Amino acid sequence: MRAEKTRATSDDGNRKGTGSHMRLYLATGPKIASTKQTFVIPSGVEESVIEMQTTFELSATDRHSKARRGCLTTAHGAIDTPAFMPVGTQGSVKGVSPRELRELHAQIVLGNTYHLFVRPGLDVIKRFGGLHNFMNWNGPILTDSGGYQIFSLAKLRKITEEGVEFQNHIDGARAFISPEIAMEIQMLLGSDITMTLDECVPYPCEYDYAAQSAEMTTRWAKRCWERNRRNGETAKRGFADSMLFGIVQGAMFEDLRKASAQAIVDLDFDGYAIGGVSVGEPEEEMMRAVEWTEPVLPVNKPRYTMGLGTPPQLLELIARGMDMFDCVLPTRLARNGTAFTATGTVNLKNAEFILDKNPIEKNCVCDACREFSRGYIRHLIKAEEILGLRLITLHNLHFYLNLMNQARSEVEKGTFDQFRKAFVAEYKTRDAVMVE
Ligand SMILES: [Zn+2]
Repeated sequence: MRAEKTRATSDDGNRKGTGSHMRLYLATGPKIASTKQTFVIPSGVEESVIEMQTTFELSATDRHSKARRGCLTTAHGAIDTPAFMPVGTQGSVKGVSPRELRELHAQIVLGNTYHLFVRPGLDVIKRFGGLHNFMNWNGPILTDSGGYQIFSLAKLRKITEEGVEFQNHIDGARAFISPEIAMEIQMLLGSDITMTLDECVPYPCEYDYAAQSAEMTTRWAKRCWERNRRNGETAKRGFADSMLFGIVQGAMFEDLRKASAQAIVDLDFDGYAIGGVSVGEPEEEMMRAVEWTEPVLPVNKPRYTMGLGTPPQLLELIARGMDMFDCVLPTRLARNGTAFTATGTVNLKNAEFILDKNPIEKNCVCDACREFSRGYIRHLIKAEEILGLRLITLHNLHFYLNLMNQARSEVEKGTFDQFRKAFVAEYKTRDAVMVE
């Protein structure tokens, strides 16, 4: 499997983002076989060339925006970017089986560390040989660190430099997560892309608190990085195959965002996430937080904006140089009867659809649209039949995944910016589906 990914090495050496922070385990661990770039030791007497794996490759960029077309290779397969990651909170993308996810051409799913840690618990998942086996998904999995949920769901949190102590929201049991424990948990889950533990501050947030919090997030990121390196050096339980993304914080303050981004980039992660967005801020502030951060991020690493967003927001974020997205909207809104279309969302509960024999969206090739009418799906939703929410979920996920497919193809053709403007202009319900 590894051999298939082997590429010829190049001798151009000076890759941005390597420098003194290069992780030795990448050079000495089992990843050598998949090397496709080289790294020249700057201080070497003889210019030794150490092979390093680059798991992200850009194939096209847009001329009129910062949109990028790339491919991220993981131990469980490749992810074409820009990519949408369906959210499998409890080890399941709500209402959809892994077989259906594959039929939808989903290339990666997201698992929530906090939820799986609380229930069923790590011992159970360990007995099943990790999250891939447990949920029967053999594609890539990204896990968050659990930080976001600890700060948004758990009770009685006590944050110290060491980590976070909390009571979970299910049975109130006490638990403690440190940066090191967050890495151990994600390793046990068998995640392909792991995230550093961060503190996600609420919106709005006082400057001083945001500053102290972002600095602590950086110190936590360094501890995650160190634990990851140690695990990689010993190739502990296959952990050398996973990637680690650092998370930029800094709330809605330009200097804090830039400082956080620089400090996280200096640690040299496999990819970079922008956290602390989609926390209730207006869309303009969210876009500004991304715009401040993006120029600091190295071009040759994937960028992931966490917890976003609506279809127009995703295109706007792609235009601002972002590559990866996760959002609960397609599955969450399906459960109240809301479907995404190119002209905006429609709520199939509305009486206007009672006799509507059209599919949810004309020309859509998803199973729900090929086989069922709006009128029938409306009936199912009104009667609280499970099939109704499943059909809308399948359509909504298809819509999001297909939008990314279109975006990739438009970047390749050099027409992404026109596509984005046309799509955003056509999409009428922008404000109706703001992220919670
Ligand atoms: Zn459809």
